[in-house]
Parts: sequence; C-alpha cells; structure tokens
Amino acid sequence: MTTAASSKTKYEAIIGLETHCQLNTKSKIFCHCSTKFDSPPNTNICPVCMGYPGVLPVLNEEVLNSALKMGIALNGKIADSSKFDRKQYFYPDLPKNYQISQYDLPTVEHGHLEIELVEKKTQKVTKKVIGVTRLHMEEDAGKLVHAGSDRLSGSTHSLVDFNRTGIPLLEIVSDPDLRSGQEAAEYAQELRRLVRYLGISNGNMQEGSLRCDVNISVRPVGQKEFGVKVEIKNMNSFSAIQKAIDYEIERQIEALENGEEIVQETRLWEEGSQRTISMRSKEGSSDYRYFPEPDLPPLEVASEKIEKLKSSLPELPAQKRRRYEEEFGLSAYDARVLSDDRNVAEYFEAVVAKGATAKAAANWVTQDIAAYLNNNPDLDITEIALKPEMLAELITLIEKGTISGKIAKEILPDLLSKGGSPKELIESKGLIQISDPQELEKIIDGVLAANPDKLEQYQAGKTKLKGFFVGEIMKQSGGKADPKLANQILAKKLTS
Ligand SMILES: [Zn+2]
Repeated sequence: MTTAASSKTKYEAIIGLETHCQLNTKSKIFCHCSTKFDSPPNTNICPVCMGYPGVLPVLNEEVLNSALKMGIALNGKIADSSKFDRKQYFYPDLPKNYQISQYDLPTVEHGHLEIELVEKKTQKVTKKVIGVTRLHMEEDAGKLVHAGSDRLSGSTHSLVDFNRTGIPLLEIVSDPDLRSGQEAAEYAQELRRLVRYLGISNGNMQEGSLRCDVNISVRPVGQKEFGVKVEIKNMNSFSAIQKAIDYEIERQIEALENGEEIVQETRLWEEGSQRTISMRSKEGSSDYRYFPEPDLPPLEVASEKIEKLKSSLPELPAQKRRRYEEEFGLSAYDARVLSDDRNVAEYFEAVVAKGATAKAAANWVTQDIAAYLNNNPDLDITEIALKPEMLAELITLIEKGTISGKIAKEILPDLLSKGGSPKELIESKGLIQISDPQELEKIIDGVLAANPDKLEQYQAGKTKLKGFFVGEIMKQSGGKADPKLANQILAKKLTS
C-alpha cells in the first residue's frame, strides 16, 4: 500500500478553464434591448433576441471593442477575419434553438496570461505564464427559475426569464497549463482583474457575470497521454474553484490507486458538503451541428482599429505590479495587494505623488485603510473622506517627527470618517510631538523620581525595566513624547 502522500506525488493534474464573462455594454449583443441586471422578468426582450422568424441580428460595436481589448490584454493574436456560427441545441431557455457563437474562426487565439502564486506562510510570490487557447464572442441564454426549490429536483414547476438571452459574453479558454486548485483560482482572479481594469465587465461571480467551468484529469508523472477528463461546474467563488479542483484531484488519484476507471462526466461542486457530485455522464462530444451564421457578415478587423484600442488601454495589473516593484521598491506581495483593485492602486499612487514615501504609503493603504474598507464593505476607496493628499500630509508629519506614529493611528478614524487636514487636527487637539529635549528631560526626571524602587532594580541589573520607564514616559506625555529622543535621554539617565 502506498501512503496518501507518496501516491499524490506520483500523479499530476492537468487543468483547463473555460470562462464566460458577461460584458457590461448598455444593450445586448445583436439588438437594442437593455442589459440591466435587476429588471422584472421578460421586460428586456424583442423579436431579435427572442429569435422570431424574419428578424436580423446586428453586431453591437461595443461588444467587438470589448473582445478586442481583452484579446490585446491577453497578448493574443487578433484574427483579421473571423465569423459567427450557429451552435444548435434545444433547451427551454434558448428561444431560437440555437446560440450565435464563434466556432472554428474565433476573434482571438494564442494568448497568454501571467499569474502570481503566493505562498501563504512566507508571502513569497512566484510567477507562471498560462496559455490562452482562444477568446470568442457569443450571446447568453435565458434563465430558468425552478419554483419551490433552488434545484430542478424538488421544484413544482419551472419559469423562464428571457432578459438574459442576447446578453454579450466573452468565452475565454485556457490551455491545459494549470496544475492545482490554487493556480486555477489565481488564473480566474487575474482574468477578473483584467476585465475590471479594462472596464468591460463587473466580473462579479455571485451575479454570474464571471462563470468558470473546469476541465480536469490526472495522469502518472511522466505519462504523455492525458487521463480521462471530468468537467466541474457550479462554482461561484474563487475559493470554491480552488476547493473543487483540489477535491477532484484527490478523488481521481484515489480512484486510480484503487484500480477504478475514471468516467468522463460532468460533476457539480456542492458547497454544503464540500465535494463534487456526478451530474451527467458524457457520451463523446456533443454534436452542435455548427454552421456559419447566415444573417451576420464575416467579421473584418482593421489593423488601425487594433492599434487605436491598444493605445487606449490603461496600465494593466501585471505591468503595474512590475512597476511598483521596480519604481517604488515594493515587495512583490505589496505590489500585488495594491494593484488588485484599480481604484486602490490609483489612490496609492496619488498619495505618493503628493510627497509620501512609497513604502509608508503602501503600509497605510494595505493595512489601516484596507481594514477600514473591510469594515465598511459598501464603501469604495474613492468615497472615503480621507483624500490622498491628506494621507500624504499625515505621513509627512510622522516622517518629520511632528507627531508619533501612535498619535497618527489615534487620529486616523476621525480623518477617515470626517476628512480634513491632519495638520489642523493635531494643532487643534494639541497633539504635536514633544521633541524639545528640556521638556522631555523634565518628564523623564519626574518618572524616575516617582519610581525609586524600579530604578534601584534596574541599576541592580534588571535592565528589562527600561520598557516600563518608556511606557511611563509615553503615559505622562499623553503619547506625545518623541520616542527616539525620549529613549536616548532615558538611556543616558539610567547609565549615569
Ligand atoms: Zn432584444
């Protein structure tokens, strides 16, 4: 019998992700209907997205622009000429009985995406490049609502809402380059960062704006052929992607170790029981009888258009991370935390632009301000009362020695909720740091005189008591004593 640990290292997992991303265009992909998320059921529909006979779809230019931007951001090859196809299948949420998608000539191919993997304990960051097979545009289907239960089983009847039919989607298919749940979750997060930076989608997994299907197989290390592939669906968070994959890797290794065959099937991630369950077995690949969409012309993309879009792109997350490391000397970890959200990154850069040192600005933004935003989940960093120039002022006050870091932390809640100038606040509250040696000496003499027994113990060798004296000095000065100077004076007095 092999132990679990040694059997694990005998196998490797081969994982690919198919991601559907809902674009945030105002209207649908082939008609003028609104894409508004919370509209009453079946109010955003028209003959085009309902597939009535005789209607003609027209491609929304903004959908193409979004696809091209994402293609450029994924370092992909943009096809000069591509086309739309009909993918035919019958399902109650698909009124046309076919979906307009792209089959053999997608708009983007051969891209790649750099991901970062963080080791939890050490915060060490390693980078890995994941290939992107293709990116194409397609329309979404409607939504079935199973009444009386959140699943089909147990429901008394089902309703269909066609508001979602014709909502534009990007489908992004990765190469089978991912090897663990962590890598897959990080890849999906990096895709979300990209669509948010580009402003083409809200990337919200709970609302279904970003959906990932996982293909996963395991094989003995060294074997060339892939093992039997299982598909996992139904994960609506990054941690669910990670856990579902890690569960599935273990399940498949255990089956192989027991001499069982892996069945090609689709499995569902069950959040409640933290496991995957079989949904349906796959008999070969489905035949969708694709053929070119006769109602849409072939898609020609001029190189000038690509160049124009390229120059309109913002700095992307990976570029930002690299620049933060090189230009600001930040750790890979800090660079990553700061650039995770574009607004946070812009706030941080504004603080630095106003004169704060990058490291101090990074610490305040990733610690105190991040904690404040965590406690106020509806608040975006652009909405907090403490403006970047005021945080820069606060940092400068500490660095000049006008206030201690401790005082800065004390006034921070006020600044975060009410805003205003830190300088004016400390002046009005009388919190300016005591850096006058004579004044400090007076306080220190007072502390030593009030504690003769402790002083005697110190002089007898109990040097740990220095901390006690420093604490007393800070207490007596109302936290205002310049800690460095106070320490120097105290040290001199204790040894004299
Ligand atoms: Zn419509």
